[in-house]
Amino acid sequence: AAHRAPPDDEPVMEGRVIAAHGRQYIVELPDGNLLPCFPRGKKSDVACGDRVDIQRTSDDQGVIEAIQPRTSLLYRSNEIKQKLIAANVDQLVIVVATEPAFSDELITRALLAAESEEIEALIVLNKCDLADKLPAARERLAVFARLGYRIVELSALEHAEDLRPELFGYTSVLVGQSGMGKSTLVNSLVPGARAATREISQALDSGKHTTTHATLYHLDADSELIDSPGLQEFGLGHLDRQEIEHAFLEFRPYVGQCRFRDCKHNREPDCVLNAAVKAGEIDARRFDVYHRIVGTAR
Ligand code: GDP
Ligand code: ZN
Repeated sequence: AAHRAPPDDEPVMEGRVIAAHGRQYIVELPDGNLLPCFPRGKKSDVACGDRVDIQRTSDDQGVIEAIQPRTSLLYRSNEIKQKLIAANVDQLVIVVATEPAFSDELITRALLAAESEEIEALIVLNKCDLADKLPAARERLAVFARLGYRIVELSALEHAEDLRPELFGYTSVLVGQSGMGKSTLVNSLVPGARAATREISQALDSGKHTTTHATLYHLDADSELIDSPGLQEFGLGHLDRQEIEHAFLEFRPYVGQCRFRDCKHNREPDCVLNAAVKAGEIDARRFDVYHRIVGTAR
């Protein structure tokens, strides 16, 4: 759709993108009002969390003229497409649960995305009320705990508040496979989240109900929470091999120490990474994920 240029006398306002769905965005204005906006031009590289300059084009619509510089940008991508998750976040919260089973590869990939943007990462193990499932889930997360990642155990149904202190002072983004309890967590931590989501869905879709958009909620004056749609994969096609190697924290002491400068860490002689895996210093499953990501899987 073509969007008419705003009249010259419409002031440029700063706003915050609090919901993103396709090419449609909900922008929160300085007075707290929400305005549905479209980006100028065809390219749509605006993300939830972006600070933007907008101009009103009518009472109920605006155009995004510019994106202000970002402190961080999280995206997942394959070879073809990049999907923006959120901008200006300083903490990535990965939600998993005692059931259904979660993908530890997805956790590793999300952690790599956080490391590459140099933002904090936190793993939430939800549904800890299901006591019989707890030991197995803990065991699957042990590798991440050993690497130094923080893990918060909770039950979104009973003790969602356990997460609040971890969110204080941050703009956090929640990611996770669907079914892990992300919505339950958000609805418990953000009073009015359901109503806000409904309002945003209506504005975005002119009535149709959609839950496939990222949404930013204000927790308190210092803390924000962005809920993102459930995901099944986390592509890292935007990162090159060096960036991936750097994002694996446990690889850092070894990188550059192999006999060959261009070592692919496959079957090359004197590969220190392979030696570290053999010695149990690097987790073999994480090493496999590395090879899958950079395309050198054996
Ligand atoms: P989402 O897809 O990640 O948003 O997951 P939902 O919030 O929709 O939750 C999926 C299912 O798990 C729902 O049936 C929830 O009631 C349930 N659930 C969420 N949190 C908990 C929890 O802490 N304990 C238990 N037992 N069930 C939970
Ligand atoms: Zn090597």
